Amino acid sequence: MRVAFDPIYIYELPPGHRFPMEKYELLPEQLMRVGVLDPRDFFAPGAMDESDILLTHSNDYWGRLKKQELTPREIRDIGFPMTPRLVERGRYIAQGTLDCAGYAAQDGISLNIAGGTHHAYAGRGEGFCVLNDIALATKVLLQRNPGLRILVVDLDVHQGNGTAHIFRHEPRVFTFSMHGARNYPLRKEKSDLDIGLPDGTTDGAYLTVLTAQWGKLLDSFRPDLVFYQAGVDVLAEDQLGRLNLTIAGCEERDLIVLSQCFRKGIPLVVTMGGGYPQRLSTLLDAHTNTFKVAKALIL
Ligand SMILES: [Zn+2]
Repeated sequence: MRVAFDPIYIYELPPGHRFPMEKYELLPEQLMRVGVLDPRDFFAPGAMDESDILLTHSNDYWGRLKKQELTPREIRDIGFPMTPRLVERGRYIAQGTLDCAGYAAQDGISLNIAGGTHHAYAGRGEGFCVLNDIALATKVLLQRNPGLRILVVDLDVHQGNGTAHIFRHEPRVFTFSMHGARNYPLRKEKSDLDIGLPDGTTDGAYLTVLTAQWGKLLDSFRPDLVFYQAGVDVLAEDQLGRLNLTIAGCEERDLIVLSQCFRKGIPLVVTMGGGYPQRLSTLLDAHTNTFKVAKALIL
C-alpha cells in the first residue's frame, strides 16, 4: 500500500499554527509504530508542474501566489502566514494525490498522509487551503484520459465548497459532500449531491444516511476512480465539528466508503482532511484508523 509523504515545514510555522499541523509529522511515526505501515510504504512526491496547476487554478491566482503577492485579505481568508514554502508544500501535496491515483489503480487503495484541501477555489484559497489537491489531480487525469469518470466523496465536517465550485459544470466529475449543515462555510456551494446534517448527529443516524447513499451512488455514476476526503472533524470531541460521532463510528464510516469501492474494483485515493479535537492523540488515532481499514482490505 503506497502512501504519499508530506514534506511539512512545521518548524517554520508560528507557535499558534503548530496544532493541528503537527499531525502530518506525527501520523507517519504512529502508523509505523503500531505496525500499520512500513517505511517502504511511503513515497516522497515531487512538486506538481506549473502547467498542471494551471489546469485548475487561474493564471492570476497562481501567478500572485508564486510571487507572494496575495492581498492581506486573501491571506487572512487562507488563515496561514503566507510563505514561499507553504506554496511549495501545496505543490508537493497535490502531486502526492495525483501519484496516489496511479498506485490506487495498481493496489486498489492509496493514501496521502495530507491533502483534502477542499476549500481552495480556482481563483482563491480559504480555510487553510491554498491549492485544491483533489481538483488538481482530477483535472490532470482528465486531461490525460478524457473518458474518465471521477467521483469525489467528501466526508469532512465542512462542505467541499472549492471542489464543488470547480467541477460545477463538469459532467465527468461527481461531487458528493456530507457535512454539518450549520458549519463553515456559511455560504455553501452546490455539489452534485449535498447532505447537510443537523448539529449533534450521532453514529447511528450518520451511518444510516451514508449506507443508503454510497452503494447507490457508485452503481449509478459508475466511476473509474474515487477520491475520498476523510476528514475526522466529524468526531464529538472536535472543537469545530458540531457533530457527535465516536471514534468507532468514524472508523465504520471509512469502512463503508473503502470496502464498497474495493469490492466493486474501483480504485480509491484517500486524503486526510481536517480534524481539530482537543487531544492530539484522538486526532492521530482517528486518522490511524483510516489507514488500518485500508490495510485490512488490501491484505
Ligand atoms: Zn474540515
